[in-house]
Amino acid sequence: MPSTSDSVKVAVRVRPFNQREKNAGSQCIISMQDKTTNIKNPETGDIKSFSYDHSYWSHDGFKETPSGVSEPDGSNYADQKRLFSDLGQGVLDNAWQGYNAALFAYGQTGSGKSYSMIGYGANKGIVPITCEELFKAIDTSSDNKKQLRVFFSMLEIYNEQVRDLIVKEKPPHGGLKIRQNPKSGFYVEGLKQVPVRSYKEIEKLMESGTINRTTAATNMNATSSRSHMVITIRFEQVLVNDAGQSNTRSSDINLVDLAGSERADSTGATGDRLKEGSAINQSLSTLGNVISALADQAMGKTKVLVPYRDSVLTKLLQSALGGNSRTIMIAALSPADINYDETLSTLRYADRAK
Ligand code: ADP
Repeated sequence: MPSTSDSVKVAVRVRPFNQREKNAGSQCIISMQDKTTNIKNPETGDIKSFSYDHSYWSHDGFKETPSGVSEPDGSNYADQKRLFSDLGQGVLDNAWQGYNAALFAYGQTGSGKSYSMIGYGANKGIVPITCEELFKAIDTSSDNKKQLRVFFSMLEIYNEQVRDLIVKEKPPHGGLKIRQNPKSGFYVEGLKQVPVRSYKEIEKLMESGTINRTTAATNMNATSSRSHMVITIRFEQVLVNDAGQSNTRSSDINLVDLAGSERADSTGATGDRLKEGSAINQSLSTLGNVISALADQAMGKTKVLVPYRDSVLTKLLQSALGGNSRTIMIAALSPADINYDETLSTLRYADRAK
């Protein structure tokens, strides 16, 4: 069983400069020592420091750090494999114990959320590695009294409405219905849960789900960065005793690529876009409130109200947040001075979640 201090883990991860930042002659305003991430205000030079479970550069030897702020020595460098071994492996270990997990990527659009979660091409992110490792462990499991099953589902929440990404058809008006089961809690009615026997099958489903997500967004004249995507891997261990009775231990591993956290006001939104922005902000702030309430509980504070019901996302993830579940937040950051405001707000969000 994870100890309470293990139940919520927060990591920040800084991507390299992108072309736009290079063209703008951007300076790196982030520095790190051990678990601490520092950010420098490019106008005043003030430095603010935040401490997390992990502070990472996402590529080797970050040379772009301006002098005056400490140079990284390589120990804060985390490639995709390290991200998995530091964060994903614990999720898997927990799943074998029958506990749920939720792993989130938070940050402004273009900060590296999808890179960390899904990855690109051969550079697989934490979701594919976790799935691959799960099947490796299943294939080498020597316990033949147990039947091991895996189910995959993939959904999107856009403007507080749920859409199944595995099916091509349009969702019903208002999205799929959310129901509540007195025992297991909230669930999406009619959501496809596909039995899968290999990582290859998951890979195919993820590909077509991603295409459905992009197509749906394009049809609505939006981008997929405005929606939350939730992939759920249900892992079931069915134990049959000599009398033929079966007992199922199941665990939901939820992997969540959150909508971009940029504030509506900074993107000059009006009309539908503004409504969309406020729906996104509502669910992101509810998620922050939920995680911070859970962290308070873990610190021994009593009478903490956890506001799961305030957004669709937190309703659906209720059973994977709190209790024996493991919650992991990866906050994705740009290194560049031109993103100072958004990066600071991401650091603050991640700080509250601890
Ligand atoms: P987001 O999902 O937050 O919108 P992406 O993950 O799509 O952002 O990243 C935006 C761009 O930056 C992509 O082209 C991606 O390849 C690149 N990128 C992000 N993180 C890294 C990284 N750690 N190393 C190299 N490139 C990265």
